[in-house]
Parts: sequence; structure tokens; C-alpha cells
Amino acid sequence: MKEEAPAPFVKFASGENIPLELHKVRVVQKLNLVPIERRLEAIKEAGFNTFRLSTRDVYLDMLTDSGTNAMSDNQVAAMNAADDAYAGSQSFDRFKDAVLEVFGKKYVLPAHQGRACENILAKAFVKEDSIVPMNYHFTTTHAHITLNGGRIIEILYDDATQISSTKPFKGNIDINKLEKVVAEYGADRIPFIRMEASTNLIGGQPFSIANMREVRKVADKNGLIIVLDASLIGENAYFIKKREEEFKNASIATILQTMCGLADIVYFSARKVSSSRGGGIATNNEELLKKMKHLIPVYEGFFTYGGISVREIEAMAVGLRETLDDTVISQSPSFIEYLVENLTKKGIPAVTPPGGLGCHVDAMGILPHVPQTQYPAGALAAAFYLVSGVRGMERGTVSSVRDENGNDVLADVELLRLAVPRRVFTLSQIKYVEDRLTWLYQNRDLIGGLKFVNEPPILRFFDGSLGPVSDWPEKLVAKFRADFGDSL
Ligand SMILES: *Cc1c(COP(=O)(O)O)cnc(C)c1O
Repeated sequence: MKEEAPAPFVKFASGENIPLELHKVRVVQKLNLVPIERRLEAIKEAGFNTFRLSTRDVYLDMLTDSGTNAMSDNQVAAMNAADDAYAGSQSFDRFKDAVLEVFGKKYVLPAHQGRACENILAKAFVKEDSIVPMNYHFTTTHAHITLNGGRIIEILYDDATQISSTKPFKGNIDINKLEKVVAEYGADRIPFIRMEASTNLIGGQPFSIANMREVRKVADKNGLIIVLDASLIGENAYFIKKREEEFKNASIATILQTMCGLADIVYFSARKVSSSRGGGIATNNEELLKKMKHLIPVYEGFFTYGGISVREIEAMAVGLRETLDDTVISQSPSFIEYLVENLTKKGIPAVTPPGGLGCHVDAMGILPHVPQTQYPAGALAAAFYLVSGVRGMERGTVSSVRDENGNDVLADVELLRLAVPRRVFTLSQIKYVEDRLTWLYQNRDLIGGLKFVNEPPILRFFDGSLGPVSDWPEKLVAKFRADFGDSL
């Protein structure tokens, strides 16, 4: 017998494995699918940067999973029972209980989102000349560490950024490299080792618990602490259950407790992990807590609200507990797996194995004729919006920085990320993405590069504007009309 498809996949009589929605839709939002001629105007107005589009012009918003996951009925209900108080809110007590139950950490400092936690962590621990080893950076993490005078060192295994792979845990830290970094710079210069669950920028790729145990050994040997970025921890736990033999029968609760138990500090963006807003930094270590705590009222708000409404704190508490439910955390990865497998069957290169967060399409593989200095991932994101109304995100050199000579630091990978927020899209919408991407792939020769028109000095991808190097967008529109007639 063939291996059984893991839930929520069910076998259809046709033989196909389909990720079935284990939820029903009770509140809906109307979407717009505007004609391609309007999309051309819109992407020009947006400076070929999908961040700058208005959702008025967007059909499926696959920019990010941040704050866009669907909330559950229980989360919405909990928001109505919020205890409005500046200090000592019972909503915060419920959040604290949830953090203990899910992450096994008894102290938690609330913050308004993930990067706010990073600000606190960097201010508390990172100094001039600090070295922060990590599996891979996240954009905002990189910014906070460098703004505080530190430097990041990425210590993934060499093949982790290979697009097509069968390695189940591409987010693993290379232990030899970690030991070398510690030996070279000395433990004194290392404020913490950072591990990011479902490593975002390389395609939502998980690390294994076996790897984290090895990192723990190195940390203990050298008196170092481990900081876990748990923003995408639910998906990482789901992949551990699916891919790590030791945990195949373990509950998600056990897996989460094991992961967090190996970290001294756990921080998270609740925008991702719990379908709400907010974030938090959790620990069991009073000394570490003391180093961070005084910064919360300076940057975030009082200790029991941290810059977010108590309604959101209630939603965070419920959302964190829902992370323990397999059917909740598997929803997004199963749709991603479905999409990635269907694309790769057609020869369209995407990051494999399928990860969390989104489907990551390989822009350098699709556009070998666009040099990295002309931003292939940015060009593909703009082109895909143009032909589909679907908004993805550039994760490549536009999201990188310039070096001291003003040259682009070329990204390791050029990806068009199509985020699949939890329980937001239907399978026919995913099929539409597959269809339009297939058409674009067949017409990939028409896509050209981009150049910066206006470039902000930091985190330039958010608000920078670019322009096409030729009239390729018009040519793409003409071909679309020739093939699809009057269709949207
Ligand atoms: C989104 C994200 C952050 C930052 O969180 P925000 O809530 O968007 O500020 C940090 N780390 C990872 C891995 C993320 O995915």
C-alpha cells in the first residue's frame, strides 16, 4: 500500500491527494480582480514594488502571512472579553498562562510585533563589535543587530540555499561552522546564538530538534545563550512531526516544549504565530529577564500591554493555544506543498522540499537572462502581479543591502515568495495561482529587469521604487491579451 497522506490531505477517488479545508468560512471579504490594463497602471504607480500596491488593485494578497492569517471564532470571541486596564490587566494573565503552556516559559515581556522584540533583544545584548551567529538572518533582525553595532554570521550548511533539494531540514545550523565562529571570535563577543524556526528567507525551511540539541551542546560548552525566533514555530513543529523520526508520534505540544526547552529566550511575532497582532519575549531565566525588562516601558508600553490593545492580547493567548492543533498549523504548509508539487511537476523551479509560510519560486532559474543586478525576483514579482493580480513579495537582492562601495550585496537566492496565510485562500484560488504562473513561465522570455528609481537608505525593499529597463511590461500585457482575449 502507498504511504498514507498525512492530514489534512485526503485521497480522492481519482487517486489525487487533496489538502482538504478543515474549517468553514463564516466571515468573508469581497475581492477585486481588475483588468490587466489597470494592473499595469497600478504596478507603475507602485514603482514596480508590490509593497506599494493598494489592495484595491490586488486579487490574492500573497505578500506575507504577517497579520493576514484568518482568525478563529474563538479568537474573535475572546477579544470581546478583554480586560481594559493600563496595568495589571487579566488579559495579560491569560496571555502569560498561554505562553507557559505552549512555550514552557514563565516570564513574558509583551511587544507590539516581532521586530520590536528584536529591538529589545539587540539593545539589551548586542554591543559594538558583537558577533551574532545564526542559521540565517531575517531582514528586521539584520537591521536591529547592525544598528546596534553588531554583525551577523550565517552558518547554514553549504547546500541549504540550493533551490531543489530533498534535505528535510535546510534550516539546520552547521555545527562545525558554529564551533569555528566561536573559536575565531571568542565567546565574549557573542551575545547569543540565534535560531530561526522555519527559516524565512531561504523558503520557510525548518531545523530539526537533533540539530538544536547539538547547538545547545556548543552553547553550554562555551557559556553561550540561545535565542529562538519562534515567529514561524508552528510550521517548524509540523515539519519535525512529519520529517524527524523520533517525533513522528509526538504531539505538537511536546515538540514545541522540546524546542523551546533548548532555548534560553524565545521571541515571536504574534502576527505570524497566532493569527493576531503583537509579539513577546519569553524566558525562564530571571537574570536575562532583568536585562530586557526595563526597556519594555521605554519602547513598547507598560508590562501588561506592551503597545498593543488588550483585545489583541486576548487573541494572542487563544491563537498561541491553537498552535497546538495539528489541523490549524498544517493548513498553510499543506496548500504550499500542493502548489509546489504541481509547479515542479511542470518544470517550474520552486524551493523544495516545500516549506512553511509560502511557495518560493526560483526567479534566477526562471529568468537566467536577467542579471542579479537587475533584480530578477523583483521583476518576477512585478510580472506575476501584472498577469494575475496576485501580489507576491520579492525575496532577493532588492531585499538585500549595499556594501560600503555602494554595490548591491547580491542575495544567495532570488525568490518570488507567494505567502499562503493560514485558512485564508481556497483551493481554486491556489489553482488560479498555478495556472497564471504556468502561463508566465511559458512567456518568461518577455520579462526584463528592473532598476532603482528611488532607494531608501535602510530596508529599501519596503518603500523603494523601481522601473523596468525596457518596455517589457507593455509587451507582456499585449501577449496576455492575445492569449486570453477579454478575460480578466
Ligand atoms: C516576520 C518575522 C519577524 C518580524 O516580525 P514582525 O511582527 O513582522 O515585526 C521576525 N522573524 C521572523 C522569522 C519573521 O518571519
